Amino acid sequence: MSLDENCIFCKILRGEIPSDKVYEDGDMLAFRDIHPQAKVHVLCVPKSHFSYLSEMGEKERGLVGKCMAKLPEIARLAGIEKGYRVIINQGEDAGQTVFHLHIHILGGQNMGEKLL
Ligand code: 5GP
Ligand code: ZN
Repeated sequence: MSLDENCIFCKILRGEIPSDKVYEDGDMLAFRDIHPQAKVHVLCVPKSHFSYLSEMGEKERGLVGKCMAKLPEIARLAGIEKGYRVIINQGEDAGQTVFHLHIHILGGQNMGEKLL
C-alpha cells in the first residue's frame, strides 16, 4: 500500500498511532473517531494515501468500492445496523481536516434533521 510519511491516518495504518479498531482487512481499516460527532462515530480509511475523490485512479476506485460494500458489516460490528449516516467531507467548503480520503459512519442515536 502507498502511504504518506506525515499523514495522520497513514500513521494509524502503520500502527505508529494507536486506534480503537472496529474492523480491518487488506484494503481498509475502520476505527472510532477520536472526537465523536454521534454516540457511535467510526471512520473507514482505505489503505492507500490519496486526499480527494477527484484523485481516484483505478486502484483507489476499487478500494473505495470495497469500503462502501463493507459498511453494513462495519456498522453491524459497531452495533448500529438499525441505521447510520455515511458522510465524506470533500475539500475546504465541506470542512475536510484530514487529507486522506475517509468515510464517516455515524449512528447509535436518532440522527436528527437531514441536510438534504
Ligand atoms: P474530516 O473533517 O477530515 O472529514 O474528518 C477527520 C476526522 O478525523 C475528524 O472527525 C477527527 O476527529 C478525526 N481524527 C483526527 N485525528 C484523529 C486521530 O488521531 N485518531 C482518530 N481516531 N480520529 C482522528
Ligand atoms: Zn494518508
